[in-house]
Amino acid sequence: SRFINTTPTKVVEEVYTPTHQFDTFGLNHKLVQKIASMGIDTPTPIQDQIIPEILKGNDVIGLAETGTGKTAAFLIPLVEKTLADDKRQTLIMAPTRELALQINEELRKLAKGLNMYSTVCVGGMNIGPQVKGLKQKNHFVIGTPGRLLDLIRQKHFDTKRITTVVLDEADRMLDMGFIHDMRKILSTVPTKRETLFFSATMTPEAKKLTSDFMQKPIEVSVKKQDVTTSIRQDVVPYKHDQKFETLVALLNKPEATRVIIFGSMKFAVKRLANDLVKAGIKADCIHGNKTHKQRVNALNA
Ligand code: AMP
Repeated sequence: SRFINTTPTKVVEEVYTPTHQFDTFGLNHKLVQKIASMGIDTPTPIQDQIIPEILKGNDVIGLAETGTGKTAAFLIPLVEKTLADDKRQTLIMAPTRELALQINEELRKLAKGLNMYSTVCVGGMNIGPQVKGLKQKNHFVIGTPGRLLDLIRQKHFDTKRITTVVLDEADRMLDMGFIHDMRKILSTVPTKRETLFFSATMTPEAKKLTSDFMQKPIEVSVKKQDVTTSIRQDVVPYKHDQKFETLVALLNKPEATRVIIFGSMKFAVKRLANDLVKAGIKADCIHGNKTHKQRVNALNA
C-alpha cells in the first residue's frame, strides 16, 4: 500500500480570480510591456497577492513551491523599485547554483534594455569572474550562501549598500545546512532593509530565522494541494534477468514521453543511461560527479 496507487484521484484545480492585472499594479509601462512580451498575461495567485506588499516595502513571507510563479513574484516588484531608484541593491540567496542561474535568467528577461546589472556568485564555478563582476555596478547579486560568504569575507563583496534581501527556497537552504552562512550574511546587511522570505514549508528553524531577521512580515500562502494521491504508482514485477528489458518495454509505451528514473548509485545511474542509449532510448544521466555544464546540457537535451 505504500508503493501502489492504481486509482489516482483527479486533481480539481481551483480557479483563482486575480484582483490585479499586470497593468493595474502601478508598474512602469516598460516593465508591463516586458512582462507581456514574455508571454505572461495574468498574475498567478502569489504574484497577485505579494507584488503589492513588496511594492509597499513590507517584509514578506511567501509560502509557495516551485511552479507557482514565485520567482517573478519577487523579481517584478524589485525591478520596478530599482527602475524608480537606481541606488537600490538586492541580494538574492538560493540553495543551488542551478536555481541562482535560473533566477538570473528570469531577471535578464524582465530587465532587458532597462540598464539593470546583476552578478551571479555560486560555488563550483570559477571565482575570478565573480570577483570581477562584484567590482562593477550591480543592482542584483544572486548566489548560494557558501560562495557569497566567501566573497564577503575576502572583501570582494560589500553588503553595506544592500537594500533588499531575498531568501529563495529558504527551507531547502536550511536542509542543506546553510543556516550559519545565511545568518552570518544577514548580519552583515544593514538592518534598514526589506527582507523577502520564500519557502515551501515553515519549519521551526525557518520560523526562528524569520523572527530574528524580519520586521513585521506579511504572510502570503499559496500552498498547492497535495498531488501525491493524483500520481499513479505501481510496483512492476520482473523475471530475475529481465529487469532491463521490462524497463525498456515500459519506456517504449507511447505515454512515456518524459521520464525521470532515480537510482541509488552514481555508477549504476551512468551504466543505466548508457544501456538505455544503446537500446535506442534518448537518455542522459545527472549525478554528483557531473560538472555543472554537463548537468545543464543533460537537462537542456
Ligand atoms: P517559478 O514558480 O518561479 O519556478 O515559475 C514557474 C514558471 O512559471 C516559470 O517558467 C515562469 O516563467 C512561469 N510564470 C511565472 N509567472 C507566470 C504567470 N503569471 N503566468 C504564466 N507563467 C508564469
